[in-house]
Amino acid sequence: MRVTDERYNRDRLRLELALRLIGHEARTHTIRHWTGLSDDRIRKLFRAYIRPGAGVRRRRGKSPQQAAFFVRSGAGAADAHALASMLLLFGVVTPPTAGAAAAQPSLARGRLLCEAFETYRRVVPQPCIDFEHAVYLAGALQRGEELRLRWCGGCAAVDVVEHPSLRATPCRACGDKPGEVTAPRITGRMRGH
Ligand SMILES: [Zn+2]
Repeated sequence: MRVTDERYNRDRLRLELALRLIGHEARTHTIRHWTGLSDDRIRKLFRAYIRPGAGVRRRRGKSPQQAAFFVRSGAGAADAHALASMLLLFGVVTPPTAGAAAAQPSLARGRLLCEAFETYRRVVPQPCIDFEHAVYLAGALQRGEELRLRWCGGCAAVDVVEHPSLRATPCRACGDKPGEVTAPRITGRMRGH
């Protein structure tokens, strides 16, 4: 009996997350990645729950893959540090010391991703990063290859920087040119929460 209940609850959480992702106009493969639902099930959910004319589009095809959007384009770069802060705060992006298991897709992390994105959209006056770009940013920061987080040595503000230019760009908050990446000190403090 308990097994049945657990399965029912898990299925319910899966559907709740899928609908939340659909509401954010996530692409089908993004919904599949975070919920484990099949494409067919996602298609049916979309048909069953989203009214035509409700303003929610079903997006197909590839997700955005441009690191440059977050560091070179004016509006994207301006918002990137705010969204990155939320991704950190909600634990969607985890420090390398948390291990690979902490970065695996799960219903819990999928919900945190939604929370982080929704909070970002609430706190920034004119948010310009859509959900799929947020998913890309979370993945890129977790991998730490093309994009990384850098904490300013002067004011401790977090910034999103391209990996090869880690030392070059001044801090977005105070204008300092940080000499060192101080992430281990900050993430150590965060883990203590
Ligand atoms: Zn600074």
